[in-house]
Amino acid sequence: MDYYSVRMRAAAGGAHEAGGQHISGGERLVGAEELEATVQKLLRRALTHELGQPDFVNLTVEKVASADVTQLPALPVTQREVQSVCEGHAAAVEELLQAGVALSAAQKAVALLVQGPAPHGGVMRGAIVMDADTGARLESDPARGVRVTQLDWEPRALAGWKQRMSRLGTAHERVAEALALATKVTAAADTVAELCWSDDPGYVGGYVAAKSIGYVRIPQLKEPGSPLGGRVFFVRGIRNVQEYEAALQAPVLIVEQTEQRGEQA
Ligand code: AMP
Repeated sequence: MDYYSVRMRAAAGGAHEAGGQHISGGERLVGAEELEATVQKLLRRALTHELGQPDFVNLTVEKVASADVTQLPALPVTQREVQSVCEGHAAAVEELLQAGVALSAAQKAVALLVQGPAPHGGVMRGAIVMDADTGARLESDPARGVRVTQLDWEPRALAGWKQRMSRLGTAHERVAEALALATKVTAAADTVAELCWSDDPGYVGGYVAAKSIGYVRIPQLKEPGSPLGGRVFFVRGIRNVQEYEAALQAPVLIVEQTEQRGEQA
């Protein structure tokens, strides 16, 4: 069976490449029977984002041969309990250190997402690529960053994951989507860890992820109403960002982890 990669990006004030402000994006990898519904869902997402109304939406559909698709087991999910944004940031730095990121790089990443990581303080379309030891930003275009594409849950695996997580209280669509992305990013050879919180003003949670620590959800990483957020991929030993990004764009389907010990909501 073939798959279809469906990609969406929306901007206000013109296209991204013409300097428009990024509003929302989405990346899916679905079978033919899900294609139309997926295009519709992504278009609706573009038109109803809390950051505002886009005047540019780009939707791309590409066929992907099933032989080219790699399967990856989802990272296990745990959650840190925090009482404030400040505690959330401290927990994120702690988890990043645990995953092998230098303290100065971890602190710099948090500060960048707080201030808005794009050149004029807004949100980026993709992720910052940061040297895990020096904290240097490596992405060539700091407005775009790098984009992870061609990824999705295998539908039965997603249904199973949601059922398991709803028993634990964390079956969010948003967490499922972020978990798929984090699983793919942290599986890449040169990734040390990832830090993320949403730019959606209504969603204040985020996570730190790494192969060694799994997906650690942190429920408060910004104040409600803030339109700022982003992603930082910490790397060690990459030859160049283009090759690293190419690895993040190879087709991947997420399947269920068979061993779930230690997972909690
Ligand atoms: P979201 O969790 O969808 O609110 O996204 C938060 C931030 O993560 C966005 O502002 C982007 O900077 C970044 N981002 C979203 N999707 C991707 C992706 N597919 N690849 C890389 N970065 C992304």
